[in-house]
Amino acid sequence: MAILIKNGTILNPATSTNEVLDLLIEGDTISKMAPSITAADATVIDATGCYVAPGLIDMHVHFRDPGQTAKEDIETGSRAAAHGGYTTVCAMPNTNPVVDCPEVVKYVHDKAKQVGLCNVLQVGAMTHGMKGEELSDLEGMIEAGIPAMSEDGKSVMNTNLFREALRVAAAHHIPVLSHCEDINLVDGGVMNAGPKAEALGIRGISNAVENIIEARDIMVAEETGATLHLCHCSTKESVELIRDGKTKGIKVSGEVCPHHFTLCEDDIPSAADSNYKMNPPLRTAEDREALRRGLADGILEVISTDHAPHTAEEKSRDFTKAPFGIVGVETAAALTYTELVLGGYLTPMQMFAKMSYNPARILDIDRGDISVGKVADVVIFDPRETYEIHASDFHGKSRNMPYEGRPVQGTVVTTILAGKITYKR
Ligand SMILES: [Zn+2]
Repeated sequence: MAILIKNGTILNPATSTNEVLDLLIEGDTISKMAPSITAADATVIDATGCYVAPGLIDMHVHFRDPGQTAKEDIETGSRAAAHGGYTTVCAMPNTNPVVDCPEVVKYVHDKAKQVGLCNVLQVGAMTHGMKGEELSDLEGMIEAGIPAMSEDGKSVMNTNLFREALRVAAAHHIPVLSHCEDINLVDGGVMNAGPKAEALGIRGISNAVENIIEARDIMVAEETGATLHLCHCSTKESVELIRDGKTKGIKVSGEVCPHHFTLCEDDIPSAADSNYKMNPPLRTAEDREALRRGLADGILEVISTDHAPHTAEEKSRDFTKAPFGIVGVETAAALTYTELVLGGYLTPMQMFAKMSYNPARILDIDRGDISVGKVADVVIFDPRETYEIHASDFHGKSRNMPYEGRPVQGTVVTTILAGKITYKR
């Protein structure tokens, strides 16, 4: 089976290729890239006016499987991811049971393979049951193929235990994906601390809640030599902490989620609408601008979604009672293109670097590159189409997000995973 993609603009950050070329896929491999390819029997896709780029890689999703499959499962999550242009995602381990042993890693990897719509790489929890008391079976999970370790949903508050985990990560050359939140300092907060929270009569989460743990984690990364990746950076200080860390040669990177560069606390309509409730919270317009600039100047290398499905019932509760999080894999590409590319912060090439090539580099996986000979994970993105975001178009199970009716430009038209079409508009 062969696929011939004609006349698309190839954007391949790995090789800085940015030109109109044909691309031929044979089997699961990219076999040829040239100005005018002909191939009898190949399925031809006309990509005139579209970008042809490496399939997107999301370093941060919650597929809720095992245990919370009313929200999402590996099949619906994979379908949603393919719709959003993703070919690889990292699933966070805060499932039920927690992914803290090789058996659960194997369950997820086997099920994802069976579904066959997306590479779902299961991340391993750093501590047993994510209780923060003792290390989980990190070596066993590394052997079972985890790409990274993370306690996402919380921080390992015991710094000594955190350091032990980073020593294991460093020894086995896998990155640590760190959710940074000083749980004591949260003190019951559910949205950004400041005038807006006060006006709504809701307890706030200060920037320091995040910054303190980021600073700690960067210091522990320096001491252990581990590769540290900071999840969902939301504060202006986080950009400076990463900048300083990089200047010192510490292996630290950071990701931003679309909600943190598209929205700010001013957008929250009322305490009743928990589609604006996520953790970390929507910050100030000043924080948002710092994140956009951090992405533009390369300090923040990754755009991830923190795709966090919840049932309609859970999200019908108000800000104080609803769970944190919004879905994101089906809107990330359009939001990034609209806000950051059309907004003048990123070139299209940088967008695909932050959504595919850079994640692959940090995870040290042989993906995010559509050079000849590489696995054919490809996204075709039409940057011309304008439309509104509607949850009714989603392929995933949950609908919780604050973008209903929001106008965007740019859409995924085809997703190809290892030479197989996993989504076609
Ligand atoms: Zn998190």
